[in-house]
This record gives sequence, C-alpha cells and structure tokens, in this order.
Amino acid sequence: MSTLTPTASPTPRACCAGSASGVDSPRHPGDHPKLFERVRAQMDLAAEAAGLAPEVRKILAAPACEVAVNFPVKMDDGRVEMFSGYRVQHNNVLGPFKGGIRYHPDVSLDEVRALAAWMTIKCALVDIPFGGGKGGVQVDPATLSRREVERMTRRFVYALGANIGPGYDVPAPDVNTDARTMAWIVDTYAATLPPQERYRALAVVTGKPVSAGGSVGREKATGQGVVDLIDMWAADHKVKVGDLSYTVQGFGKVGAWAARILKGKGAKLLASQDVTGAIKASGPAGLDADALAEHAKKTGGVAGFPAGQAISKEAFFGVKADVFIPAALENQITETTARLLDVRLVAEGANGPTTPEGDAVLRERKIDVLPDVLCNAGGVIVSYFEWLQNRGGAAWSAAEVDRRLREILDRAYARVKGMVAEKSLDWRTAAYAVALRRIEEVYAERGIFP
Ligand code: NAD
Repeated sequence: MSTLTPTASPTPRACCAGSASGVDSPRHPGDHPKLFERVRAQMDLAAEAAGLAPEVRKILAAPACEVAVNFPVKMDDGRVEMFSGYRVQHNNVLGPFKGGIRYHPDVSLDEVRALAAWMTIKCALVDIPFGGGKGGVQVDPATLSRREVERMTRRFVYALGANIGPGYDVPAPDVNTDARTMAWIVDTYAATLPPQERYRALAVVTGKPVSAGGSVGREKATGQGVVDLIDMWAADHKVKVGDLSYTVQGFGKVGAWAARILKGKGAKLLASQDVTGAIKASGPAGLDADALAEHAKKTGGVAGFPAGQAISKEAFFGVKADVFIPAALENQITETTARLLDVRLVAEGANGPTTPEGDAVLRERKIDVLPDVLCNAGGVIVSYFEWLQNRGGAAWSAAEVDRRLREILDRAYARVKGMVAEKSLDWRTAAYAVALRRIEEVYAERGIFP
C-alpha cells in the first residue's frame, strides 16, 4: 500500500460511521464557515505570486480524505452521551498525514479542514517528510471528568480505526489535549492490533510522555520554535531577545513554554490573556512566566494571578510591547484588534490567529509578522524527531533535539526571507510560496497516477 498518493489510500480503510469525503459538519454557534476558504485564498495568492502550476492548486483545494465519526461514551453516572469527531487528511504527497487532535466545543469539519491544510503547508515549508492532517472532537473537556475524557479519547481512537497509523496518519496534541491524551491513544491503538504487530503502536502519535516513548524537548518544542524565530527576527533587526518586551495570548502549552523560554533569555512579559481573563504586570519587572505557568496550570488560567493586575481584553491588545505572541485560537487578530496592537512584531504561535482583514491592517501599520506556518512549526519538527526515534529505537539528548530543531528552522527562515526578497512578498505569502513550490516539485517528479 502506498502512503504517498495524492488521494488518501488505494486500500479501503476500516471506515467509520458517517465517514465520507465532502460530508457536511453540523452547524453550531462556534462554526467558522469560512476558515478553509481562507486557507485556499491564501494558497491561491501565494501560487499566483510565485508563478506556480495550476494543477497543484487544484489538488490542494480539497482535502484528500475526510472522516467524520459519531460515537457513544459512557459517562460516570451511567448515562450514554454521543460525541462527534473528525479527522481530515489534506495531502500526503510528502509523507504520512501529520497533525494534532483538538478538543473544543467550536471544533467543526471546516475548522479541521483548515488546520489540516495548514499542516500540509507547514511540513512542506520546513521540509520534513510529512503531509497535513488534523482531528478534533466537539467537546468542552472542562465539563467532563478525567475518566470521561479518557473513555472519550479511547472510543474516538477506536472509531477512527485504521484511518490512523504510524506510516499513514500520525496525530499529536493540540488545544486541550496533551501527552497523557497521546499515551491513551497509543494504548488503545495497540489493543486494536494483533499482538505481533503491537511494537509498531508507539509511532502512531507524537507528543507522548517521555516515559512512554516521547521525545525529550517535544513538550516545549512549539514554544521553543517561536522563540528561535523571534531570535532570528531580532538578529535581523539588530536587537537582542533579552532586551525585548512581549505579551502573550493563551497561556497553555505553546504560550507558557514560549514565555518561560523567553524569561530564560531575559525578555520581559508585560501582559497575558486567555479564556479566563486578562492581566498585566503591576510593576516594572514584568510578570514571572514560571510562576504564571504554575498558576494557570493550577487554576485553569491566568486570571487571579496574585502578581498581576486585571485588565480588559481590549486593554490587553493595547499594551505597548515589542512583540505580541498569539498562542490561543484562530481569528483573534481582526481588523479591530490589529488597530489596537502597539508592537513591532506579531509572532504567531497559534494556528490562524490573524484574519485577512487583520493581516491587511498589520501590513498597513508596518507591523512585522512571523506567520503561523513558520513560527509554530517547532512542534511538528520535534514530532518528526520523536517519530524517527520511535521507528529507530533511539533516544536523542535534549541538546541534540534543540540543535536539530534550530538547524531546520534556520533553513526555513532563510528560505522564506529569500522568497520575500525574490518576489517582494509579505512573509505569510512568501512562506506559502516556499511550501507550494516544494509540493509542486514533488508532483512534477512523480506525476499523477495513473
Ligand atoms: P492549550 O490547550 O495548551 O492552550 C490553549 C490556550 O488558549 C489556553 O491558555 C486557553 O485558555 C486559551 N484560550 C482558549 N480559548 C480562548 C479564547 N477564546 N480567548 C483567549 N484565549 C483562549 O493549546 P496549545 O497546544 O497551546 O495550542 C494553542 C495554539 O497553538 C492553537 O492554535 C494550536 O493549534 C497551536 N499549535 C499548537 C501546537 C502544539 O504543539 N501544541 C503546535 C503548533 C500550533
């Protein structure tokens, strides 16, 4: 069975309830009906600018495969609840589908499609042998007990069946999922394999606990990548990272790690905002990222941090700093919030945090942008390292992971910078152009079956 065809797989997969290409997601209040359209428009813009062949655009305009599942879970009190989950496999011409699994009430097929397409672009841009995939379950995990989340995770994996696999489609953590979620996925997936095959199960996901086959450095990898990219930007602008001040939206895995690593370099955290509220530093020393991470972990968010002062969301966007790091959800930098920002650089830790209208305002106001597909690629790069270690039975050191991550990001940054100069593009369009050129190259060599 080939895993490198532009369609999902020539072998019919053990399919799940409702699994079909083109299936429509249920509409609900949090739906983002236009998110995938936005990615397509961005790809078109970049393809035009870089003069790419129309065929590649056509192929990437629709995901290769979409899986939608509805599955029952037994709750702690004995009730049965139904859940809806998705896995979208956008393109795998460069290698197995790769991308996180998100638990959030706003998850929709359209959102997962967009997130999967961004993974295709991201992997091609940083030139690792993976394609783009993404998954999600429409749920607010905060309303479930830990045991209910575990049962839901296991049942979702069971429902996905052979649609995921170490050489085919490899999930990872995303919003509201973590290393523990990944450990449950490995355990469940292994149980579905014949005993002789179970040794393969470890590489079915990345982002596992280090004690259960994860890679050192994976937990912090996305935040580390964000900081590496800020470091490159700073060097180009002849400033030191340690002299920068910054604000962070979202203090979860990505936001908190970026902040903690920036603290280690001497940069100053001035404000943060998440689902629980917004705070700013009460004194000139800034907020202590480690203490804030501890507080957010314990209480569920940044609100109520004793050393901070509560502010409005609007005031948060207006805090004057050198860098703003969005590390929460999509569509946060809109036309309105982009006008509030008083920063030199937006370093996108989140996927899709900036709307096209917000982007236009950032360009008009000459605020630099390190686009998501470049800036948050550290996560998938170290996921790739974890997958390699699992398949090779190896364990790399933290120093080796960091060094190799930096090397890949350095090259990607240089390629995007080169494209910006070559075609006079903004950084987002240039990043897409680099990725699309890479994908075009492979299709040109391989052709289209038959
Ligand atoms: P997480 O669940 O660890 O944290 C999410 C954060 O967003 C939390 O602090 C939460 O309070 C905040 N948030 C949620 N809704 C919000 C709202 N409406 N307004 C403000 N804040 C809100 O998730 P994460 O893994 O840190 O992911 C954050 C972003 O980074 C997502 O866009 C994700 O796709 C992207 N990303 C994650 C990884 C990864 O390795 N985890 C890799 C690449 C990109």
